[in-house]
Amino acid sequence: GAKARGDKQYQFFEPSMELTAYNDLVVETQLREALARDEFELYYQPQIEPRHGRLVSAEALLRWRHPVRGLLTPESFIAVAERHPLMVPLSQWVLRRAALQAQDWHRRGVAQARIAVNLSQVQFRLEGFADTVRAVLSEVGVPGEWLQLELTERMLMDDVAGAVETLQQLRALGLTIAVDDFGTGHTALAHLTQLPLDKLKIDQSFIAGLPQENGARAVTRAIVQMAQGLGLRVGAEGVRRREQWSLLQDWGCDELQGELVAPPLSVTQFEAWCRQREGG
Ligand code: C2E
Ligand code: MG
Ligand code: MG
Ligand code: MG
Repeated sequence: GAKARGDKQYQFFEPSMELTAYNDLVVETQLREALARDEFELYYQPQIEPRHGRLVSAEALLRWRHPVRGLLTPESFIAVAERHPLMVPLSQWVLRRAALQAQDWHRRGVAQARIAVNLSQVQFRLEGFADTVRAVLSEVGVPGEWLQLELTERMLMDDVAGAVETLQQLRALGLTIAVDDFGTGHTALAHLTQLPLDKLKIDQSFIAGLPQENGARAVTRAIVQMAQGLGLRVGAEGVRRREQWSLLQDWGCDELQGELVAPPLSVTQFEAWCRQREGG
């Protein structure tokens, strides 16, 4: 009502907004230097099958080891980076780093899992994006099957025809495609049947509502069933509790990711996690 509208207007004129452009500039400069100084790292979070715990893939999650502020998660810098051309080299670094990691883990027998890479909006919409992926794969020497790409609904819906074409090119290279944070965006359900996809990842907000919230239960079950009907795999992220695991398993969810399985891990931690599971 009127109060809500009033609040919004007040927020709109919040003084901190005037600082945004300035802050962007500062962050951009720092990001550029960070890239040059090699301060970025990828952490990896396992995605497992609920029944046997088999490792299916590891999601690569960007971290910035800031010399002063410590290890930073993407929320503190990715939004700014997305607004700048700098996101292109940063995204390119992520893709190449993930391919190198897949190569290393396969070669050393650490894990046969895929690595899932989060794409940025600017990166996905670049002319010839699939060609740059092909170039990275051949330079590093890995088959496309070793990588999965995670896109948001928004990236797909902005230009459906363009997305279909790019995704077809990527899948022809062997890559698989997952829709991240599924259920929070604006995917017209009709498009789900046209888009060349492999997997839906149910957004954490729904998983957080399990088992107690009726709405979260209904939406989660519906997404699982819809994915099955469409012949797609379906994953859940943000799994924190045993009840969530068993419900998702009962409903037929293919993959689980979350603190209950493992938090995002450094390369060293991830390798230790794999060894420990083999042992026990
Ligand atoms: P996302 O792709 O949806 O990744 C899942 C996020 O949820 C990760 O946060 C992960 O650490 C967190 N998460 C997973 N399970 C749990 C859990 O059980 N509990 C809690 N508290 N958190 C959990 P993170 O690493 O901070 O990444 C946030 C977002 O930043 C990602 O969301 C993704 O959209 C973006 N991002 C991360 N890495 C990259 C990247 O390399 N490139 C691009 N473009 N975006 C990235
Ligand atoms: Mg993701
Ligand atoms: Mg997500
Ligand atoms: Mg997200």
